[in-house]
Amino acid sequence: MTDNPFFEAWDTAFELPPFDRIRPEHFPPAFERGMVEQEAEIAVIAGSSASPDFANTIEALERSGRLLRRVSRVFNNLDSSATNEALQAIDRDYAPKLAAHQMRVALDPGLFARIDALYQKRAALALRPEQRRVLERHHLRLVRSGARLDPEEKARMSAISQRLATLHTLFGQNVLYDEDEWRLVLDEGELDGLPDFARDAAATAAAERSLDGRYVITLARASVEPFLAFSARRELRQAAYEAWAARGTHAGTHDNAPLIGEIMALRAEQARLLGYDSYAAYRLDDTMAKTPDAADRLLRQVWEPAKRRAGDERADLTAAALADGLNQPIAPWDWRYYAEKVRQQKYALDEAAVKPYFVLDNMVEAAFDTAGRLFGLSFVERPDCATYHPDVRAWEVREETGRPVGLFLHDNFARAGKRSGAWSSSYREQESLDGEVLPVIVNNNNFSKGDPTLLSFDDAKTLFHEFGHGLHGLLSRVRYLSQSGASVRRDFVEFPSQVFEHWLSVPETLRRYARHYRTGEALPEALLERLLAARNFNQGFATVEYAACALLDLDLHARPDPERLDIARFEQEFLAKIGMPPEIGLRHRPAHFQHLFAGSGYAAGYYAYLWAEVLDADGFAAFTEAGDPFDPALASRLKAIYSAGDTEDPMTLYRAFRGREPEIAPLLAQRGLAG
Ligand SMILES: [Zn+2]
Repeated sequence: MTDNPFFEAWDTAFELPPFDRIRPEHFPPAFERGMVEQEAEIAVIAGSSASPDFANTIEALERSGRLLRRVSRVFNNLDSSATNEALQAIDRDYAPKLAAHQMRVALDPGLFARIDALYQKRAALALRPEQRRVLERHHLRLVRSGARLDPEEKARMSAISQRLATLHTLFGQNVLYDEDEWRLVLDEGELDGLPDFARDAAATAAAERSLDGRYVITLARASVEPFLAFSARRELRQAAYEAWAARGTHAGTHDNAPLIGEIMALRAEQARLLGYDSYAAYRLDDTMAKTPDAADRLLRQVWEPAKRRAGDERADLTAAALADGLNQPIAPWDWRYYAEKVRQQKYALDEAAVKPYFVLDNMVEAAFDTAGRLFGLSFVERPDCATYHPDVRAWEVREETGRPVGLFLHDNFARAGKRSGAWSSSYREQESLDGEVLPVIVNNNNFSKGDPTLLSFDDAKTLFHEFGHGLHGLLSRVRYLSQSGASVRRDFVEFPSQVFEHWLSVPETLRRYARHYRTGEALPEALLERLLAARNFNQGFATVEYAACALLDLDLHARPDPERLDIARFEQEFLAKIGMPPEIGLRHRPAHFQHLFAGSGYAAGYYAYLWAEVLDADGFAAFTEAGDPFDPALASRLKAIYSAGDTEDPMTLYRAFRGREPEIAPLLAQRGLAG
């Protein structure tokens, strides 16, 4: 193919991909050439007659694969945010090919021999600390991929990786299929209880599906959760809840159960080949937690208190339901509805009354302003930067001196072809090995579009969360790509995102940015106080629905015999074993638990959110103790964590910020589980 944008230099601002010219058929030849180029680069390193040194081995490895990375990033981002059948077919085709390629690089005996030689004499190499770490990390990565295995085992490791890549891809596509497939189409008369914002969002969703005049509820969290919280029609709530909980479980071509069985068996085999008792033991070995036991211990510290708290919450809900004429036990599709009623009674806090003060654009401003006050960043919109969808906005990010530090893309709305949830990703990462490369970061949310778009307090928190990840990429100041931004241990990566959420609740932020969408009036002071007072509300439920998933993940990946796994039975038995309250559903059931099965990133790692929460609660407490949420000295030490990427051990970074190791008390207080 002659006219392929991936084979040209991009002269756009920040080398943003020329999205208007990229078509699905450009990807396969670009993937092919990218793999060939990197293999040639690796062959040069591995076959060099010069004795290995840091520059000709590690730095050369860091430089390799640039084209492949560029293509893969564009592909993965588009396939997540704006996919179609053509991209999905390419994904199914190339996921195993790319996995095979990565394994060929990782298991190349010549490459490993050189890195191992450097590793063995690393103390004598006069490397700077971050260089020594980059060498050690590459060495460990190859060993953990199987570089020390015999050729037959290596071949098996590679075959497993390829098959897993296919299974992960199919798993995610099945969830998307079920989410796009289902909709609840309602008439005006079926909207009882829904506040204006939910009606407006449902009308917009209907119009997008050419169902003007009607109302559509989808399985996007931002659509189904408000419906469950407000719809007075119990049978409709039940239908929506059951469809939401059933994603991935439907028998037939999109059933995820058989995929889970095969994924689990392959992961266990991978772990055994590498000498570990279980996949959980293998994965946790390279984390802050180190062992499944350590992660499990932390989860157990919140599990029983959270259940007790949820029991108290259920008592309040039952009373509210009785008053409402419901003479049955609270069901999972009732929890959010009656929780909303209890919130109104206890805190005089009505989500429908709060939401008009949380205008999306204002919350984006609030996040930008916080990044300005803490880290000296400013944001200038770049409407000239053409993106892949008209809803996506681009901002140039600058530091105090006015120097640009990167480009930030914001993709905020739910739509067909976009996977659910919220995430941060990149089109380019910061590095400076051969001159400064500025990052291009994208944040995805799945808010229901409105005019204007109004957020719940939780939505706004999600916005801040992903923006915290974004800052981790934007503030990165490292030399080596493999240490850039969020390339840190998995149970540390949620620290920069979660700690940033705290600034949403800073009264100064709310006073300034929570303004009524019609009148522009600030959130009334009394409402602000009630909002903050209610922060602990329903935390028993929230902790239970999360922690149960994290415990399930660890238990599942610690099983010695996943070959004989019947996932439906396992789920039932596991929930019984941990005493899961029947009126609380799992936040993610296995059949749509994309953290675990649409990739391996969070497999045996869902605990990481709570692990990082110990750090974020303790970390933000430093600002509270200082009496200033924008304390300049603390902010500057915190910025160092965002800038360091993976150049240092996470606990070392944390201690340098906090002056000591983290304590768990602030986390328990934050979740209302203390004492
Ligand atoms: Zn996150």
